Amino acid sequence: MSTPTTVRTRFAPSPTGGLHLGGVRTALYSYLYAKQHGGQFVLRIEDTDQNRFVEGAEQYIQEALAWCGIHPDESPFHGGPHAPYRQSERKDVYKQYALQLVAAGHAYYAFDTPEELEARRAEAKRDNEHAVFQYDHSTRGALRNSLSLLAAEVDALLQAGTPYVIRIAMPSNETIAFTDMIRGHIEFEPGLCDDKVLLKGDGMPTYHLAVVVDDYLMGITHAFRGEEWLPSAPVHIMLWEYLGWKNAMPQWAHLPLILKPDGHGKLSKRDGQRLGFPVFPLTWGDPATNEQHQGFREMGFMPEAFVNLLALLGWNSGTEQEVFSLDELIAQFRMERVHKGGAKFDFEKAKWFNQEWIKQSATERLLPNVIAVLKDAGIEADTETLNVIIPLVKERCITMRDFVQQCEYFFRLPSRFDYDVIAPKWNADKKAFFETWLAQWAETKTTDFAAIEAHAKTLATERNIKLGELQLPLRIMLVGDKFGPNVFQIAGLLGYEQTKERVMMGVNALG
Ligand code: GLU
Repeated sequence: MSTPTTVRTRFAPSPTGGLHLGGVRTALYSYLYAKQHGGQFVLRIEDTDQNRFVEGAEQYIQEALAWCGIHPDESPFHGGPHAPYRQSERKDVYKQYALQLVAAGHAYYAFDTPEELEARRAEAKRDNEHAVFQYDHSTRGALRNSLSLLAAEVDALLQAGTPYVIRIAMPSNETIAFTDMIRGHIEFEPGLCDDKVLLKGDGMPTYHLAVVVDDYLMGITHAFRGEEWLPSAPVHIMLWEYLGWKNAMPQWAHLPLILKPDGHGKLSKRDGQRLGFPVFPLTWGDPATNEQHQGFREMGFMPEAFVNLLALLGWNSGTEQEVFSLDELIAQFRMERVHKGGAKFDFEKAKWFNQEWIKQSATERLLPNVIAVLKDAGIEADTETLNVIIPLVKERCITMRDFVQQCEYFFRLPSRFDYDVIAPKWNADKKAFFETWLAQWAETKTTDFAAIEAHAKTLATERNIKLGELQLPLRIMLVGDKFGPNVFQIAGLLGYEQTKERVMMGVNALG
């Protein structure tokens, strides 16, 4: 009886910079797939290329995933049964596999110096400037490697400690094919791939060797990655085969690109700066250039909204539903509905998701973030008042930052009052109304909004003024501008004294 294998997916970023939106989406789909199948999601850091290592990138990846609520079951930070999960700490694991491949004739030592290879490249260009030299089945016979040299020569070179790399011997006439979870059957023309380096001169594996060895040792069943890795698939397939692991090869899903808003090409961090929207989940400060790229979090996006919009960049449920929580995504995500084509990034739509999430979120969910954005703006707000205000103003907030404008006037005097809007229709009757209204309200000083409104209505009727004509002036006098919830509710929340102060300021200014 065969035991059903547990689904194990992985996200395997290289710490070469801030994790871009496309990377987070890869992690998300991989996570959703694992969780939906009751499986495990592994985070593995692929840092074998020390030249491309960027300080802070690994912490950034950890923090970004945590912010999204994507919690790995195994990772360099929490460990797990296959630790270590950082490839630089697994260095010693890889070499034996490279040597095993050499012994079986599937890989070979290559002793060519960088200068010799450079000379080959130049030579190829001499006849045709577009020609590219490739180390492959057609050229390897004339290069310095363990396939072209005599065994004794190879031994001598190795004995002498001559620097070498180990390259895979790609087949020259075999059609390599596999079934992608998104794209279906994919075939590669035979003989086009180069003999990729598997083990570098410094003994470090390249990505190609490390990814296959680790996916195997870590029992990965499904590997999600960006479609830019599709051209490397033949090398990986051959490695699985040559290492004798073909039956354990994970199913691959090559995710389509996230495109620029106009659909022309891959979305880059430059586009974000050019068009004024974030492409990173969290603000990323590039240590090499000192450039700051603002993140969705800092721009006031809720992680729920960010995850939601990412999920729909390349997938849809096939129903009208667009707002999904992470749990709903786990339940409803289907690989069959992941699009084959690239997904255009639409910042307006991204904002719509955030607005929906703010609208649908409970006050207690929003409260800590509202307190934080207000604090950043220098506003110390009390929880009790915020608990009342948040439900009143949240519909007007597209980002969390909008809470500053929507809440500010409850806690401090607005910096400007747009009296010009009401000046043309201002008159002695209105002035008298507000003076009497305040004088009468002084007797109760009630903060009950219905009572305040009822009182204003009665007084307006007595004075033969339409309540509608008083609401805008009152709003301008209290808020400074033409927005906010019911104006009597604002008055109630401000309380008698503060309302009086602002109304009198207005009355005096309007004359
Ligand atoms: N380390 C690769 C990257 O940085 C991951 C490719 C893969 O998932 O196989 O994108």
